Amino acid sequence: MLIGAHVGVSAGYPESVDYAEGVGCEAIQVFAKSPQQWRAKSITPEIATAFRERRERSAVKFACTHTAYLINLGSEDDALWEKSWQALADELTRAVLLGVEATVTHTGTNRSRDLELGARRIADGINLAFEAAPEGVLLLENTAGAGTTYGTGPEELGAVLGMLDARWKERLGICLDSCHAHAAGWDFSTPAGWSEFTRGLESCCGSGRIQVVHANDCKFGVGERKDRHEWVGDGTIGTPGFAAMFAETRLAGAAAIVEMSGEVPEKDETNVSRLKALRATSEARG
Ligand SMILES: [Zn+2]
Ligand SMILES: [Zn+2]
Repeated sequence: MLIGAHVGVSAGYPESVDYAEGVGCEAIQVFAKSPQQWRAKSITPEIATAFRERRERSAVKFACTHTAYLINLGSEDDALWEKSWQALADELTRAVLLGVEATVTHTGTNRSRDLELGARRIADGINLAFEAAPEGVLLLENTAGAGTTYGTGPEELGAVLGMLDARWKERLGICLDSCHAHAAGWDFSTPAGWSEFTRGLESCCGSGRIQVVHANDCKFGVGERKDRHEWVGDGTIGTPGFAAMFAETRLAGAAAIVEMSGEVPEKDETNVSRLKALRATSEARG
């Protein structure tokens, strides 16, 4: 697995790669626009080219974007739903311009709590976004299951894929957030938790779909449905849990990316180096 972090772009896109290399990233996640706003200025071709060129001569071998938090593809409100798939199309267009490998998104809410209805609404939105933005790979992220959020487990994520227009299925993959899965009730402090979730994803979505792991530890307990990230090894997943991640063969092709709060660069240096140490141990064991 490549290892990296979500990095800020306030200093600029090419500069984010300088930062990423400085903290030891082999993979990065960035925002393609401000995550708290619908509208944002466009990324110029000059900036996009500078970012691509800087990346080509860097240690960063995988990059993805993460969509804005306002997007809710499951919303029952037609105006918000429409705004959401249009914003998703814009995100995909930005990602293609930046030359990143994929775009991670949360699916949104499902107030009906009916699996079919929820999946249908979300898949319809993604179909429209893919139609409007003909390129770009989208990764659906699992959620911690608080409130009415959709996408807690393999079954819900697989239902969306199942309802997607056949011609778009190859453009959809999965981002597995370890904190969210653990909070939703899969015990990621043990190898069994990782294998149960990833086996479930394979049977619901097919193999090779997991392209990113958000390798976040969890502040609260398994099944508490609280989405609070903790530094790698300091939470309830703990060091044995992340050792199990590197041993899980279904994740061998995915990039592990941390999304932590704390001071830069320390939070990223520390979490990236902790993951690298676990990977080295895992590789030494063969
Ligand atoms: Zn995440
Ligand atoms: Zn989270």
